[in-house]
Amino acid sequence: MSEKSYNPFVNAQAQFDKVAQMIELDEATQALLRQPAMEYHFLIPVRMDDGTTKVFQGYRVQHNDARGPAKGGIRFHPNETADTVRALAMWMTWKCAVVDIPLGGGKGGVVCDPRNLSKNEQERLCRGWVRKVARDVGPDIDVPAPDVMTNAQHMLWMLDEYETIHGGRYPGFITGKPVGMGGSLGRTEATGYGLIYTVREALKEMGIKPEETCASFQGFGNVAQYATELYCKLGGKTIAISCWDNTDKKSYTVKCEDGLDCAKLMAITDAFGSIQKEQAKAIGCEILEGDAWLEQDVDILFPAALESQITIENVHKIKPTVKIIAEGANGPTTPDADEVIKERGIFLIPDFLANAGGVTCSYFEQVQSNSNFYWEKDEVLQKLDAKMTAAFRAVSDLAKKNNLYMRDAAYVISINRVAQAVKMRGWV
Ligand code: NAD
Repeated sequence: MSEKSYNPFVNAQAQFDKVAQMIELDEATQALLRQPAMEYHFLIPVRMDDGTTKVFQGYRVQHNDARGPAKGGIRFHPNETADTVRALAMWMTWKCAVVDIPLGGGKGGVVCDPRNLSKNEQERLCRGWVRKVARDVGPDIDVPAPDVMTNAQHMLWMLDEYETIHGGRYPGFITGKPVGMGGSLGRTEATGYGLIYTVREALKEMGIKPEETCASFQGFGNVAQYATELYCKLGGKTIAISCWDNTDKKSYTVKCEDGLDCAKLMAITDAFGSIQKEQAKAIGCEILEGDAWLEQDVDILFPAALESQITIENVHKIKPTVKIIAEGANGPTTPDADEVIKERGIFLIPDFLANAGGVTCSYFEQVQSNSNFYWEKDEVLQKLDAKMTAAFRAVSDLAKKNNLYMRDAAYVISINRVAQAVKMRGWV
């Protein structure tokens, strides 16, 4: 992470403004889409296990719902800010549009560190968050889901609170629920697998076999764990993975030149995606410091941790061997670093396309929950592959046809779709 502090919302707006100008979007539509339509900022008092009360800052932001109910995760993170939630909500609008699902963009968050909260405290926090927004979210309005440091159990507590308040069963209110309690098979794998479906297609276009490639990941949470699982199944070799040490408050990289055994690593990783260093050493891995994940002689880089990680200060560390950057995380590349990547001709699969597998499967979960009929895992993954492949091809075809950078091509498709929806509704 850089010394300079980056504001993800400023980055998200800069990306939007650039493409809005390129496609000559009219002034009113630009004004409507460059910021969120609705925001909720609230305090959540939580009774702690020791009897004291702690007050947490909560957010829900609905960027745009012209194409359907707002959709987006809830993040629990100590560094959460209103601008992070705004940026993530905006990216959700483009994400749903690029995979062409009938949903808009939203995001939520709480400034907290769940690693320091007991299970009971986390439950009270989840229920408190829902009590603050229960009238402004719902299956037809705004549908939350998990994100960084939130999981299926959090979603079920939130659903239970929502159903208690509204007096009924509304499983379509939230996605990422446990399987058997309204969750969809394949949802846990969906973001990571979706990421690899796009990389598979990119490699196909470049005439490179996955088994001839190796990769490095930033992050080993939900997205990265399943991405590396499928990447290895396709024959790829993951040689480095970085994660966060919450005791030392710094990142470290686990490396094995011959290829990491990701199943073994998963067994020694905690619920927050931190690999146990000593146990990793015991199975033959090296432990490296800082930005090491970015400095590897690999073919593919997967930033899959947090936003603003590839910056102007560290982008020069990317080795000439790198052919693809597939953004698993939301907003991992700052606009100045993005220019460098573009000039170097590295093929970039932009975040809101690359990680759209999660929301696509969340949409499938909503459809299943609303109809109370659940599909087999193979069916879910086949539908996911079809959606991700079609979206990748549409973006890649446009990029080739108009000689555009992949991020810009994805934006052109998404902004045009959302602009068309707001115009057809008569909002502008
Ligand atoms: P997670 O909480 O499961 O995992 C996060 C991982 O990042 C952990 O391994 C953590 O150790 C690591 N990490 C955190 N800070 C780091 C740092 N400074 N350096 C190195 N590693 C660091 O989160 P996740 O669900 O895997 O999400 C990761 C990213 O993907 C986020 O940007 C999220 O918004 C995005 N995303 C997630 C989903 C989803 O379905 N989970 C969907 C779309 C996008």
